[in-house]
Amino acid sequence: MEPLNPLFLEMREFCGIVGAVSKKGKDVSELLYKSLFTLQHRGQESAGIVTFGESGFNTHRGFGQVKDVFSKDILKELTGHIGIGHTRYSTFGDYRNVNNIQPLFVSSREGFMAVAHNGTLTNYDELRAELEENGYVFHSSTDSEIFLYLFLISEGNNPEEKFKEIMKKVKGAYSLLFLINDRLYFLRDPWGFRPLVFGESEDYFVVASETAALKQAGINVYEEVQPGDVGIYEGHNLKIFNVGKVLKKEQCVFELIYFSRPDSIIFGENVYRFRKECGERLAMREKREIDIVMPVPDSGIPASVGYSKALGKPLEFGLMRSHFTGRSFIEPSERDKKVRMKLIPIQEALYGMRIALIDDSLVRGTTSREIVKLLRENGAKEVHLRFASPPIVAPCFFGIDIPTVEELMASSVKLRDLEEVLDADSVQYLPLKVLKDILGQRSEEFCFSCFSGLYNPETVGEGILSRFKGYHPRILDEV
Ligand code: SF4
Repeated sequence: MEPLNPLFLEMREFCGIVGAVSKKGKDVSELLYKSLFTLQHRGQESAGIVTFGESGFNTHRGFGQVKDVFSKDILKELTGHIGIGHTRYSTFGDYRNVNNIQPLFVSSREGFMAVAHNGTLTNYDELRAELEENGYVFHSSTDSEIFLYLFLISEGNNPEEKFKEIMKKVKGAYSLLFLINDRLYFLRDPWGFRPLVFGESEDYFVVASETAALKQAGINVYEEVQPGDVGIYEGHNLKIFNVGKVLKKEQCVFELIYFSRPDSIIFGENVYRFRKECGERLAMREKREIDIVMPVPDSGIPASVGYSKALGKPLEFGLMRSHFTGRSFIEPSERDKKVRMKLIPIQEALYGMRIALIDDSLVRGTTSREIVKLLRENGAKEVHLRFASPPIVAPCFFGIDIPTVEELMASSVKLRDLEEVLDADSVQYLPLKVLKDILGQRSEEFCFSCFSGLYNPETVGEGILSRFKGYHPRILDEV
């Protein structure tokens, strides 16, 4: 297989977005800040807020976590009753490019326009080439900039027609917020890859990546933006219309497995309950003698609760997480050293024990191998690795940082060899068919491409598909 396009890899990212309107004309910057803080797990490299009010537009963007980018004084200067915010994670090279920090914005004949995007486009190369032929000059290397220009070149007579045209042209994943003067637009791609929810209180209308961000804003009742929907909040009125229709929804199941907060409701599923059930179903396959169940913190915790309950074995926290080093899935290099900085073994809990170690997923395997080593060094008698999802065998093109095929452990190592490679006493995972079973009939509405290597041709650009010619992934749940 040919290596993937480096430009494509450069722009791949996943993010958190939030938009807010004060119904009483108050500044929204503090609400946006708090909501972005809640969405910090979706991206930690940079953050930004754009607001609009009587004094026009105000913006502040910077590298780092939300708490580092904004101070009280900065938030005071971001006046305006309407605004959008973004927190970003990207991979490969371009994360230090200041022009890539979102929200992106331009002044245009439509007025001031800003955009915040979560997802990744799969026909970016084609669209960018077309726009450059039309004389548009790109200031960033992110695919999100495309939306600003597609809106401007659209021949639609109103935003509804313009967004319809955009949805016809763009392939891939996008949950999107547009601020055009004092109007807030929000849309979700027709496949519904990334989540987007909205709700309102007496004081505010808020739209965000996850329900946890709405809760932070004091909003407990929410609605999902449906795939293909465009919403407009203007004045005190909300209008929603559907402009994108597809044959099959492709909601990202990995949002439920790992990416979203456990206190969020994603695609109508309670994330904590879902992860717990994955653990329970995994425990039903246990054949070894186990003394204790131990999570890899933090993402393995809900599944380990379900595992421990179903197996009737005690749950022990033999690994504590240091909260000051970031998530190892997100950090791009030196994963093994970071594991030791991040995870603190507690000998008291694990010495002499036969451990079922529960993790959310198997990606590169380097983290798992290092954790097994750490537990053995601290006196574990046996370490049985249990993954609460199927092994990832193929890359994601839709906005989650999953490495290329070559880097994915399950794509190159057979299940029977995983024990040796990971130095575990045994390895078990949740078969794909069980994962689908948990979702029931709704599984038809989800994307499982990174677990199956099969992609919906409707969602990917020709350039990407052609790179996968001749690629035949194993169907691991049949092994
Ligand atoms: S390929 Fe995997 S990570 Fe990517 S959208 Fe599909 S399920 Fe989510």
